[in-house]
Amino acid sequence: MQKNKVVGVTSIGQEGAEQYRTLMKQAVDVAADWLTVDKMFDGMPIQTLRDQLNHIEMIPAKGVGDRRALQEANEYFLQHALQVHHPLCSAHLHCPTTLASQLAEVLINVANQSMDSWDQSPSATLFEEHIITQLRQHIGYAAGDAGIFTSGGTQSNFMGLLLAREYCLKHYPTYQKHDLVVLCSEQAHFSVQQSMLLLGFDDSAVVTIACDHGGRIVVDALAATLRDLALQGKKAFAIVATAGTTDTGAIDDLSAIASLAKQFEVWLHIDAAWGGILLFSQRYRDRLQGIELADSIALDFHKQFLQTISCGAFVLKDAANYELIRRHDDYLNPIEDELEGVPNLVSKSIQTTRRFDALKLWMSFRSIGAEQYANMVDYSIDLAQQVAAYIDQSDKFELVNSTQIASVLFRIKKHALGDKDSTQVHRFIAQLLFDEGRANLGITRREGETTLKLTLLNPHTQFEHVKALLATIERLLTRC
Ligand SMILES: *Cc1c(COP(=O)(O)O)cnc(C)c1O
Repeated sequence: MQKNKVVGVTSIGQEGAEQYRTLMKQAVDVAADWLTVDKMFDGMPIQTLRDQLNHIEMIPAKGVGDRRALQEANEYFLQHALQVHHPLCSAHLHCPTTLASQLAEVLINVANQSMDSWDQSPSATLFEEHIITQLRQHIGYAAGDAGIFTSGGTQSNFMGLLLAREYCLKHYPTYQKHDLVVLCSEQAHFSVQQSMLLLGFDDSAVVTIACDHGGRIVVDALAATLRDLALQGKKAFAIVATAGTTDTGAIDDLSAIASLAKQFEVWLHIDAAWGGILLFSQRYRDRLQGIELADSIALDFHKQFLQTISCGAFVLKDAANYELIRRHDDYLNPIEDELEGVPNLVSKSIQTTRRFDALKLWMSFRSIGAEQYANMVDYSIDLAQQVAAYIDQSDKFELVNSTQIASVLFRIKKHALGDKDSTQVHRFIAQLLFDEGRANLGITRREGETTLKLTLLNPHTQFEHVKALLATIERLLTRC
């Protein structure tokens, strides 16, 4: 570290390289030791953690130095953190990470490039463009580089709806803003609603379409709603289809929805934040059939692509539509740059300063390769199916969803509950497993009833882990 002699602040630079090496090795030791801990979570109560933290003077008059700060972060944060790579840490779409992703983080952080303009991220800019180009190929889009890395599905969905609205206002000028609505399924991610709020619409502008038992949008109902809207003089400016709903992993019928979108001249945005991983599946790629017909797509890499948070992408079919939101600033992305072929990615993003998260995906693909990625995806879907079949024939549990990707929803059967309250029992068991650091189970509601959820995206999770968990749940049932 370079010590500024005047103010005593350490920042890295040429002279600090050795200090950087030494300290980073220490940090890696701390991190690697933590990885060997068996328990998913040490179960420290909220109040104890809060008291510990309150006890430390966060902004001391005199700093404690890097070594001590590292020690303290280990003691007060890392030792009580959730081990997301634990085979039964399966409540959410929260993934263990590839080693390549962790390696990339070191380079991303040391270089600290910012992806907004070429002069803040030379070379990195080209990597990002290159990955977008490759992703477009996998989607089945025309060649090009229209798309951008984002903080995740939420931001990508927002970008899709922003562009869709601008497109509609430009191409269908007879409609006023209050005539516009968005159509999505009742299982669509809440960021659709949130984006609409940000775009200045109220909740009534989000028309939700019913889903079938599997959580997929009922296409006939969508068609009927589109016809009704036309009669009312309203205009849907976007249909949001979901490829892998967050809660059940349901994949809408993308091709059928795409033909409706075409017929009614509506922008189709596909939220593939969860299901986008199937682009890289060997055996289940056809479940995304029709994705190439979308006008825009949201992808998330900090889910089953196993990248460190955050890492997502927004992909736009027709580059010309970027014109709808392009803005220039003399100091950042001047028109002259564009004319000279200097890429300033800020023109494609709603974020200005932005991390070089694309490197993680680049290194993971390079390191792991397409075959292993495909094996991993297919393995998780097979595992989910195996678990679902096992639950389905058990006399204590009932299966709640049909699995299209790696989500399995189930609950304890009525007769096994006896006269106990279902919600209380399910919550009690999930809480106990969490506090004891044994598993993180999702809790949700399906058709009005409390339901447990396993999201099996960890390639190290085995059928035996899940069987043991179910046996534990049966045992705990007697303690309720
Ligand atoms: C996770 C998820 C999102 C939100 O993505 P973030 O990365 O958390 O912003 C949106 N849509 C779906 C279907 C998701 O599963």
